[in-house]
Amino acid sequence: MAKAIPSRAEDYSEWYNELIKKAELAENSAVRGCMVIKPYGFSIWEKMQRALDDMFKETGHSNAYFPLFIPKSYLSKEASHVEGFAKECAVVTHYRLKNAEDGSGVIVDPEAKLEEELIVRPTSETVIWSTYKNWIQSYRDLPLLINQWANVVRWEMRTRIFLRTAEFLWQEGHTAHATAQEAQDETRQMLDVYATFAEEWMALPVIRGTKTANERFAGADDTLCIEAMMQDGKALQAGTSHFLGQNFAKAFDVQFLNKQNTHEYVWGTSWGVSTRLMGALIMAHSDDDGLVLPPKLAPIQVVIVPIYRTDEQLEAISAKVKPLMQELRKAGISVKYDDSDANKPGWKFAEYELRGVPVRLAMGARDLENGTVEIARRDLKTKETVPFDGLTAHIQALLANIQQTIYQKALAFREANTFRVDTFDEFKAQIEKGGFILAHWDGTSETEEAIKEQTKATIRCIPLDAPDEDGVCIFSGKPSQKRVVFARAY
Ligand code: AMP
Repeated sequence: MAKAIPSRAEDYSEWYNELIKKAELAENSAVRGCMVIKPYGFSIWEKMQRALDDMFKETGHSNAYFPLFIPKSYLSKEASHVEGFAKECAVVTHYRLKNAEDGSGVIVDPEAKLEEELIVRPTSETVIWSTYKNWIQSYRDLPLLINQWANVVRWEMRTRIFLRTAEFLWQEGHTAHATAQEAQDETRQMLDVYATFAEEWMALPVIRGTKTANERFAGADDTLCIEAMMQDGKALQAGTSHFLGQNFAKAFDVQFLNKQNTHEYVWGTSWGVSTRLMGALIMAHSDDDGLVLPPKLAPIQVVIVPIYRTDEQLEAISAKVKPLMQELRKAGISVKYDDSDANKPGWKFAEYELRGVPVRLAMGARDLENGTVEIARRDLKTKETVPFDGLTAHIQALLANIQQTIYQKALAFREANTFRVDTFDEFKAQIEKGGFILAHWDGTSETEEAIKEQTKATIRCIPLDAPDEDGVCIFSGKPSQKRVVFARAY
C-alpha cells in the first residue's frame, strides 16, 4: 500500500513536505536551501516551461542566455536594486584551491583572489542592461524582447522546498522600449500571460494586482503580481511583472536615437516566474491521498492497470489495451500501462493516486467479457464503468472536465475564504482564521507596516479590477477609495 502522509488538517506544513518526498518530486540537498528536483517533479516543471515558453514566443519574445556571474560593480550601479539584493548575495572571491601545507586537506588559495569579486546572479537586470547598451543604438533596435531560462541564487534565510529556495529555476524576461507607454503595456501583457497560464494550465485562480511601494521589486517603478490562495488560506505570490521606468537605462547609460534624431533613455520591463509555481500547484490542489494534478500539466494523464489472475487473462487484457494506447497517444494523451507483476492492483491504485495521475483505467476479465472498463478520476475519487468503444473521446472529455473541476474547486475555495472587513478588531480576529481580507487602507507605508507588525498580514496587492468605493482605512480611519487584499503569505 502507499505510504501514509499526514493529513492537511493535522499538519499542513508536514503534509506538504511529506507529499513532495513520497510523490518523488524533489528533496533537500546537502546545501541548505538548495533542492534536488527528481525526474517526476522535473517532468511537471518541463510541462510548465513548454507552455510558458510557447506563450512568450507567441507574444514576440526570443530566448537568449547571459552569464551566471555579475561583477560586483554592475550590481551597485542601480542604487535601490543593490540595496534590495545585497542581503542575500552569494559572492565569488577566489578562483582556485590548493592542498594545505600541513596536509589537512584542500583550502582556498589566498593567491588566487579575484581582482573584482563576482556575484552569483540573484536576477539579471544589471548584466543584461550592460549588454543592451551595445545592442541598442536607435529606435530601429526597439522594442527588444528577450527571455532567459536560468537558475538564480538568493541567500534566503527561511527556506521551504519549491516555495522559497536559495537556488531556484526560473525565467526572466527583460525588455527595452522607446516609450513609457509601450513598456507599461508590456508589463501588463506579461502579467496577463502569467494569469492565463496560472488559470488555464495550473487550474489556479489568481488575483491580478499592483504591489505597494513596500513590496515593490528593488529597482522598479511599479510591480504587478498575481496572487493565489493556498488550501491553508495563506497567500502565495505566484509571479511578478515589473515596470522598470528608465532606472536601468540610466544606470547603464542605455540611450537610443529617436525618430526626431535626439537621444533618449530606453524604458524597461522585467518579469519572472519560478519553480515556486511547483509549490503553488501542490499546495492549491492536492489532498490527503497525494497529488492532484491538472491534466494539462500531468506527466502521465491516464494509467491503465490490468486486473488478472492468470497469464492468459493478462495477455487478453494486453491485447485490448495496446491499440487503445495507440489511439490515446494519437489524440495527444499521455498514457502508461502498468502491467508489472511486482505489485498488486491495490498498491498501484494508491501509488498513482499519490502521484496525481488524473485518470485511471482498470480492466479485468469481466470487463473483457462485457466490453467495458472501469474509469476512476483522481480529483473527485469517483468511479464509473463505461463501454470500451468510444473510450478515447470519453477520456478526452473527462480530462477537460477534470481540468475545469479543479479550477472551479480552487475558485470556490478562494471565494469562501475571502472576507470584507471594516474594522481593525474584525480584521485581527479574521486573520487568525486565514483567508484573504478585502479592507480599506489609507495608502501609506506606515499603516501597512503597523498592520503587518500587529497581525503578520501583508498587503498582497491592490487588485487591478478593484472597484472604486469610498471608505475609511481600518487602521487609521483616514479616507480610502479602494479595498486592497490583505493576507498572511508564504
Ligand atoms: P522577483 O524577481 O523578486 O520579482 O521574483 C520573480 C519570481 O521569482 C516571482 O514569481 C517570485 O515568486 C519568484 N521567487 C522569488 N524568490 C524566490 C525564491 N527564493 N524561491 C523561489 N521562487 C522565488
